[in-house]
Amino acid sequence: MERKRKHSGVTDSKASAGNNQKGQKLTCPASELMQIGIEEINSKANELNEISQQIWEKPELGFEEKHAHSVLTTYLKNQGFEVQKHTPLETSFIAKFGDVDGLKVGVMCEYDALPGIGHGCGHNLIAEAGVAVAIGLKKVIETYSSLKAQIVVFGTPDEEGQGGKVFMAEEGCFGKIDICMMTHPGSADMPEFEVLAVSQLSMTYHGKEAHASMCPWVGKNALDAAIQCYNNISMLRQQMQPGCSVHGIIVDGGAKPNIIPKRSELHYYIRGQTCKTRDELNEKVLACAEAAAASTGCLLELKPIGKPYSDMKQAKSFVQTYKKQAESLGVYFPDYKTLPCDGKDLSTGSTDMGNVSYIAPSIHPIYSIGDPCNHTVEFTRVAGLPEAQKPTLDSAKALMMTAVEILTNEELLRTIKEEFQDSY
Ligand SMILES: [Zn+2]
Ligand SMILES: [Zn+2]
Repeated sequence: MERKRKHSGVTDSKASAGNNQKGQKLTCPASELMQIGIEEINSKANELNEISQQIWEKPELGFEEKHAHSVLTTYLKNQGFEVQKHTPLETSFIAKFGDVDGLKVGVMCEYDALPGIGHGCGHNLIAEAGVAVAIGLKKVIETYSSLKAQIVVFGTPDEEGQGGKVFMAEEGCFGKIDICMMTHPGSADMPEFEVLAVSQLSMTYHGKEAHASMCPWVGKNALDAAIQCYNNISMLRQQMQPGCSVHGIIVDGGAKPNIIPKRSELHYYIRGQTCKTRDELNEKVLACAEAAAASTGCLLELKPIGKPYSDMKQAKSFVQTYKKQAESLGVYFPDYKTLPCDGKDLSTGSTDMGNVSYIAPSIHPIYSIGDPCNHTVEFTRVAGLPEAQKPTLDSAKALMMTAVEILTNEELLRTIKEEFQDSY
C-alpha cells in the first residue's frame, strides 16, 4: 500500500513504493530500485573512471571539446543510448533512453577545461558522474518497465566561458524536461550551491600612439584609461551590495614602454545575487569605465562576452531529497553557517546551470574531493587522482537515488514543481 507523508516534500525511500506517475503499480520498493542502480554503477566503476581519466589527460577549452565529445558519445552509444552528436552545438550532444512519454530526467555532463591549468574545475568528473547517473537510471528503467521515465543526458560545453547551456536553452533543449540534475566537485560537501548571476564585459580603450619621451603630449594613453577604469572599479567595491562581486584583468596594456599605448583592453566579470542586482552593478561599472575614457580622451568600446548566467532557483524538497540520499551513503554535510569562517561558508560562484534552473526544477550540489580550491593547479591534480572516484560516484549514486525517489513518488514531484513555480 502506498504511504505518503503529508506534504513534507521528502519521504522515506523505503516507504515510497507504490504508484508511479502513470498510476501503474510497481512491483518493488524504491529502495530496491535504488540498489539496482547502485550495483550497476559499481559494476562499471572502472569504465566510468576511464572516461574521466581520458578527459582529464586531454584538457580542451570551451567549444573545442572534440575529444571529450567523442569519448562520451561513444560510451553512451555503446551503452544503448540514442545519441545525437553535435546537437545543437558542435561540441554538445543529447543522449536519450527510455519512454518518450515518461517523466523526463535531465542529466548534465560538463567537460571543458581552463586555460593553462587543465581540469582545474574537475569537469572531467562532472562528465563521469553524469554518465554514472544515466547508466544507473537506465538499468532501473530496464529492470522495471512499469517505471515510465526517460533519461536525457545533455553534453554541455564551455561552462567556464560563454555558457553552452544558455545556447542550448535558447534552442529549446530543456523545455520538456521535468527535473534536471548535475553535481560538481569542490572542496566542501554542500547539497546546494549559492549561485550568483554573472555577466562578462570586454572594455577596449582606443587612444593615440606617440613617442613616450619626445612628444608624449601628442598621444592619448589607452593604458592610463585602463588603469583608471581598474582603480575606479576597485573604489566602487566599498559601496557594493553584499553578495555582489566584480573582478577583472588587463588583457592588453600596450606593446613597448617608449610608445604611448594606443590600445588597451580589460575583461571583467560582474556578479550579483540576482540578475537584477548584477545588472544594477553593471551600470555602475560602466560609469567607472566611461569616466576613465572622459579623463584620458580615449574612446571606449564595450563588448559583452558570452551569455549572461542567471542565479539559481532552488526547489527545497529537491535539494533535501538529494541531501537525504547522499547522507544514506555516508556523506556528511557540515553546516558551514555555524562554523568559523574558513572561506567555505562564503563559497559562491556562477554556473550556466542557473539558466537551466529557470526552465526546469534543478539541483547542483557540490561534493568534496579534497582541500584545494577550484581553479588551481592543485585542484587539477586531485581531479585526476583515484581518490576522487569514491566521492564522485557517491554523488552520482545520490543523484540517481534522488531521481528514483521522485519517479516513484507523485506527491514529491508535485511539491518540487510547486516550489519551482513559487520561487519566481
Ligand atoms: Zn570553474
Ligand atoms: Zn566548474
